[in-house]
Amino acid sequence: MKYVDEYRGSEPVRKYIRAITDILHRDWTIMEVCGGQTHNIIKFGIDTLLPSKITLIHGPGCPVCVTPIEMLDKAVYIASQSEVIFCSFGDMLRVPGSEKNLITSRAEGADVRILYSPLDAIKIARESPDRKVVFFSVGFETTAPAVAMAIIQAKKLGIKNFSALVAHVLVPPALEAILSTPNLVLNGFLAPGHVSTVIGQGGYERITKKYRVPIVITGFEPLDILFGVYKLVKQLEEGRCEVENAYGRSARPEGNVLAQQAVDEVFEAADRKWRGIGVIPKSGLALRESYRDFDAESLFSLNGLTVEEPSECIAGYILQGLKKPNECTAFGTRCTPQRPLGAPMVSSEGACAAYFNYRRV
Ligand code: SF4
Repeated sequence: MKYVDEYRGSEPVRKYIRAITDILHRDWTIMEVCGGQTHNIIKFGIDTLLPSKITLIHGPGCPVCVTPIEMLDKAVYIASQSEVIFCSFGDMLRVPGSEKNLITSRAEGADVRILYSPLDAIKIARESPDRKVVFFSVGFETTAPAVAMAIIQAKKLGIKNFSALVAHVLVPPALEAILSTPNLVLNGFLAPGHVSTVIGQGGYERITKKYRVPIVITGFEPLDILFGVYKLVKQLEEGRCEVENAYGRSARPEGNVLAQQAVDEVFEAADRKWRGIGVIPKSGLALRESYRDFDAESLFSLNGLTVEEPSECIAGYILQGLKKPNECTAFGTRCTPQRPLGAPMVSSEGACAAYFNYRRV
C-alpha cells in the first residue's frame, strides 16, 4: 500500500536498528507519548528489536483512556434525555462509566449516533430543530480544531439546538506532570506526530529547557518510530537537549496555524481531570465566555459532578509510564476488550488493548 509499506520494510528496519546500536553506549528510558505509537510498537515488536539498553515506556497519549469517568457519566445522562440526539466518535461508545456506557444507553433507547466529523452534528441540528444535538467533544489538540470550526459555524448560522460536551486535553501540560512524578526514570519523549502537526514545535520548547529532557516529534509507522528513537538516542548520547522533528512529512515547526487560530477563537486553557491521574493544571480546553451558550455541561446543569474511579484499574499508573498493562491483576482475566474494566482496554489506542491483542500476557 502506497505510503504505508514504505515505512514497514524489514531491510530499512534492520538498518535503523544497526544505526541505533552503533551510537548507543548507555541505558536510556524513553516514553512514546501517543497511543498509536504504543500500538505499533507492540504490534510490530519494535521494543523487542531494539537493543536492551533502551527501555520504552508507554505514555498518556490515548484520549479515550484519559477521559475521566464522570465525563462518561455526564455523556450517558445527557444521551438518556428524550429530546437529545447524542453524537460521538465511535471509540467513546464502549468506554465504561460508573454504571453503564453509551452503547448500553443506546440499547435502552437513547438516540446515540456515531459521527466522523463534528460538522455532521451541525447538519443534524439543522435538520432536527425540535431536538437538542450534543457532540461529545473528546481528544487532544488533534480533534479540537474541527470541533472549534463546528462551534464557530453554529454561532455564525445562529443554531440554538447544538452544544458540545467538552473534554479536550492538551499534551504539553501532561508531559510536565509526568516529569514531576516522583521515582519515574525517564530520559526523553517521542512526541505524538498528529498533535505536533497541529501545535508545532513551540509547545515543547519550554519543557526541554525547564526539565533538560529532549523531545523528538515522531510518526507512527515502524520506520517513523525507529527514526524518532535514533534521533533521541543521538541527542542523549551527545548530551544535547532539544526539540527535534523526525516527522517532517507531516509536522511543520510552526504547526497548523489556521487550526491553532480556530482553537484559540473558541477555547481557552483550563484545569482538567485525567482518568486515573487527577487534575493537571491548564491541561484541558474549556469554551471561552463568548461561546458558553454551546456548553452542554452548563445547559444540562452537570458542572461539578465527580465520581470515584474503580480501584482495581491501575490505568493511572500505566498512563504515566509507572507500570505496564500486564502488571495489572485484572489484565486478561476480569478485564478484557469484551468486558473492559478501564478505558485503556477499550480504546483502539489503549495500551492494555494493545498488550491483550498482541499477546503480551
Ligand atoms: S487491564 Fe483493565 S483494569 Fe487493568 S489497567 Fe488496563 S484497563 Fe484498567
